[in-house]
Amino acid sequence: MKSGTTQRTALVTGGTGGIGTAIVRYLAQQGHRVATNYRDEAKAAAWREDMIRDGIDVVMVHGDVADPTSAANMVRGVEELAGPVEILVNNAGITRDTTFHKMDYQQWTEVVNTNLNAVFNVTRPVIEGMRSRQWGRIVQISSINGQKGQYGQANYAAAKAGVHGFTISLAQENARFGITVNTVSPGYVGTDLVMAVPEDVRSKIIAQIPIGRLGRPEEIAHAVAFLTAEESSWITGSNLAINGGHYMGW
Ligand code: NDP
Repeated sequence: MKSGTTQRTALVTGGTGGIGTAIVRYLAQQGHRVATNYRDEAKAAAWREDMIRDGIDVVMVHGDVADPTSAANMVRGVEELAGPVEILVNNAGITRDTTFHKMDYQQWTEVVNTNLNAVFNVTRPVIEGMRSRQWGRIVQISSINGQKGQYGQANYAAAKAGVHGFTISLAQENARFGITVNTVSPGYVGTDLVMAVPEDVRSKIIAQIPIGRLGRPEEIAHAVAFLTAEESSWITGSNLAINGGHYMGW
């Protein structure tokens, strides 16, 4: 536990993924009790073992964030095991890329359900508790492509842009309850999600990044740790763009 830090219960959705793992590690290193969801039993067990090897004990509860009932049960399970959620990081996300004229309804709904509706499904069960305790930190992981759009990602860009609207509305509704609500918008980070993009396309992306490389998951986690800190109590409704200079809009 870092001196001066209050131990909080943090729920990071999609904590077993590339960026999620880094966020879980960072928050655990701050001294918080960290929980995440999982879907696949075997994958979760292997991931948890790696974390325990590094001295990090993560509360893990089965749950699909795209499904309202499953997400609510997952939050309940986390609260039973780790206490009320005080820090929520809505991180789980997927892509189903294709140009819009070829996109089917399933590709649209899977992406909207996982990247946007999931934010409702997980935040709704925790918000009243945060309001009654007069303290909370909520961070959504959006994307550079929610800010600038992206060829082949009409579904993903729409969902991630929706997350910004959600953030600034929730921030207004809860500012007087000690709850801050912010978005982190990563550029291209070298996780499985981005390494699945064909190498020639990836090289073209890197050529557009002024800093000249993909981001590292720890660089996103660092921003989440900053926004969820006690001292960040006057930052709400903001969007922190972390993208190597790839998009410098306001
Ligand atoms: P990963 O694919 O590495 O991890 C995604 C995580 O989300 C996994 O733990 C996955 O679990 C979980 N997940 C997906 N769908 C669901 C679901 N329905 N219910 C519960 N959990 C689910 O992705 P990243 O770490 O790269 O991405 C994390 C976030 O950052 C996402 O929101 C993404 O959109 C965003 N982002 C990523 C960028 C990048 O460059 N990587 C750039 C900008 C934004 P499971 O193992 O069960 O599939």
